Amino acid sequence: APVIWWIRRDLRLCDNPALTAAAESGAPVLPVYILDEQDEALGAAPKFRLGLGLEHFGQELAKAGSRLILRRGKALEVLQDLIEETGAGAVHWSRLYDPQAIARDSAIKQQLKEQGVEVISHGGRLLFEPWTVETKAGGMYKVYTPFWKAVRGRNVDSLLAAPGKLAAPDSWPASDGLADWHMGAAMRRGADVVARYCRVGEAAAQARLEDFLEDSVDAYKARRDYPAEDATSGLSENLAWGEISPHRMWHQGSAAMERGSQGAEHFLKEIVWREFAYHLMYNSPHILTESWREEWQDFPWSKKITPQVQAWQRGQTGYGFVDAAMRELYVTGKMHNRARMIVASFLTKHLMTHWKIGMDWFADTLVDWDPASNALGWQWVAGSGPDAAPFFRVFNPSGQLEKFDPEGAYTGRWIAEGQDTPPQTALDFFDAAPLSWDLSAGMAPAEPVVSLQAGRDRALTAYREAREER
Ligand code: FAD
Repeated sequence: APVIWWIRRDLRLCDNPALTAAAESGAPVLPVYILDEQDEALGAAPKFRLGLGLEHFGQELAKAGSRLILRRGKALEVLQDLIEETGAGAVHWSRLYDPQAIARDSAIKQQLKEQGVEVISHGGRLLFEPWTVETKAGGMYKVYTPFWKAVRGRNVDSLLAAPGKLAAPDSWPASDGLADWHMGAAMRRGADVVARYCRVGEAAAQARLEDFLEDSVDAYKARRDYPAEDATSGLSENLAWGEISPHRMWHQGSAAMERGSQGAEHFLKEIVWREFAYHLMYNSPHILTESWREEWQDFPWSKKITPQVQAWQRGQTGYGFVDAAMRELYVTGKMHNRARMIVASFLTKHLMTHWKIGMDWFADTLVDWDPASNALGWQWVAGSGPDAAPFFRVFNPSGQLEKFDPEGAYTGRWIAEGQDTPPQTALDFFDAAPLSWDLSAGMAPAEPVVSLQAGRDRALTAYREAREER
């Protein structure tokens, strides 16, 4: 009887414990992707990027003598159908850690086991399973640095090779056509523009890692905050869909550290920020939906999409750093980390808008969207998270620009207004933006939506008042 490999956020053949276990069972392997209600609820860009990943991965599986079976529906029902159609005796998958996935997966596990089907879940998405990292008192970590100290010396599982040819079943069950899933349907923007900036698949991700470790890692610590530079790995997009394993990044990063690379340890630390985000989400899932610290739950942030918030979404605030960053996001589906902090600070402080409005916009527009890192990032900037920047530290977007983009390379790349011959990147924004945004006012620099001083004062007054009430 075949075994089912239920593929989720692990679109890779190398270093995939679920796939390796399925292959080593000796039985024919049925790789299946299920578009269930949790995937249907993905934001526009993540769903579109998932579609690109599935298309590519289907081809990779075909090269390995296998196939990607696509089915749509409730995951349990689809799995039960497949088991009935093929007589499959076991299901393997790699774990996810958000509360909805955990609830779905535990219910499926229990139900299938009752039917006599073997169900085995595997790690692979994280370096350290969240429940294996505990403080001395036996609780969760709430602060990053002790978390880092607790894990940095740990053994990380060694890499698994791709299984080579996958044993195919005698006959294949029916599959949906990917095109019929219309994964890009919710993209109001030019999906073809975004696709040009995506780097899809396992081979591309591995090549990117090699290039980064060869060319950029030494200067990583010094240059990672300069948004115009190609100084970071750019692998978040691939990690999000499991096209590369964090283990590979860890092992290759550690090897660079051992040969004396300055920046490599810092790179490992950033990978551990992602682990920390998952640790928090697993242990305190309310980080996804409400201010992590209770005292922030009544903070008087606005939840309205005002014209100012729209200007933020559309890269029209009149502040170069913010506008360049929001356009980079809209065109590429990604944004530099420093820029993410600046735009998040601008929204939650200068515009006094709830971080959830920003988090939701990111969840709709990022191709590297990750529930844990997105929630942690927003709550970190907003000041409401467990290990957060203090609210009163308000980034000044103009000062930050002078510091991190002194030559105007970043703003020049993304903002066409004011340039005689804007680069293609800046023009791409006008192709990506939906017509409904009416950018016909066109090439005039936007007026500032709020004065920096007034915005800052309003935020700090609200902060003081909230503290006094407590
Ligand atoms: P590199 O600098 O090369 O770092 C390597 C890897 O480490 C990254 O790919 C990422 O997995 C991890 N990492 C780096 N910085 C962070 C961080 N601050 N938090 C968690 N993990 C980190 N990252 C996402 O992957 N998805 C998101 O939805 C997301 N939303 C964010 C929202 C806000 C408001 C902020 C401030 C940050 C967010 N981040 C998110 C974290 C970070 O900005 C990106 O991971 C990073 O910019 C990706 O670029 P890179 O792959 O070149 O990173």
